[in-house]
Amino acid sequence: MPNIQIIPVYHPETDAMKGRVVLVTGAGAGIGRAVSIALAKHGATVILLGRTVKKLEGVYDEIVAAGGPQPAIYPMDMEGAVWDDYLELANRIEAEYGRLDGLLHNAGILGDRSPIEHYDPVVWQRVMLVNVSAPFLMSRACVPLLRKSEDASVVFTSSGVGRSGRAHWGAYAVSKFATEGLMETFADEMENVKNVRVNAINPGATRTNMRAKAYPGEDPNTLKTAEDITDRYLWLLGPASKGKQGVSFDVN
Ligand code: NDP
Repeated sequence: MPNIQIIPVYHPETDAMKGRVVLVTGAGAGIGRAVSIALAKHGATVILLGRTVKKLEGVYDEIVAAGGPQPAIYPMDMEGAVWDDYLELANRIEAEYGRLDGLLHNAGILGDRSPIEHYDPVVWQRVMLVNVSAPFLMSRACVPLLRKSEDASVVFTSSGVGRSGRAHWGAYAVSKFATEGLMETFADEMENVKNVRVNAINPGATRTNMRAKAYPGEDPNTLKTAEDITDRYLWLLGPASKGKQGVSFDVN
């Protein structure tokens, strides 16, 4: 049975993330963008990974303009990337920082909202690649860097439809079930590795492009923003959540 918990309300100190090196995937938009900016505001050096360079540059500029630690931009399309690309990423991080203190698997795609009976097989493969295989490959490549940290937090991104299947959510729902399974398996393997913890977060309904695509008729103003939930991400990515292992966290 999954161990589901709610993230406590958290008000991070200004330097709560000071000295930490954190890699965020899908850092150019939505939740990844907001969390990256919040991480830097609280002292982290953020590696901004995503597929659209212009968006990553916008986040970079915002962090630098606010006086945060200089981030790094790492353009990568996780749909086309192969194992060697992940090894190169890990080697570059090793050369630049020597370790990794946080890894937020945030990038994801929605795919089609259609019944399994009519689901496009090509879209199915794309969703599984970006939402499941890419986080596996990245985790695998980054384990040596995580082990070199005094306190590393790996965070996978789940969803309500990753815990109970729902009609017309197709590959997205299945990919989030797989994400929960990947997190639990990896966390169990890290159980006796005191300096590496592995958990998942379900942000819940949040005002982003993906949510608008999933619910086109919804008024976005009724939803919380990505900025509203960054403190919860900081709790899970930072020292405040030390000791948590294999938990699937809900933001609310
Ligand atoms: P967005 O669509 O707003 O942002 C997703 C990010 O992932 C974008 O920066 C996007 O890049 C990036 N991305 C997509 N495909 C790739 C790829 N092939 N390679 C690299 N980067 C890629 O989504 P959200 O911010 O809403 O979602 C963030 C996470 O939260 C996802 O895992 C989602 O499943 C999960 N989630 C979101 C909820 C919500 O209500 N918003 C609810 C539950 C879970 P680009 O900008 O270039 O397209």
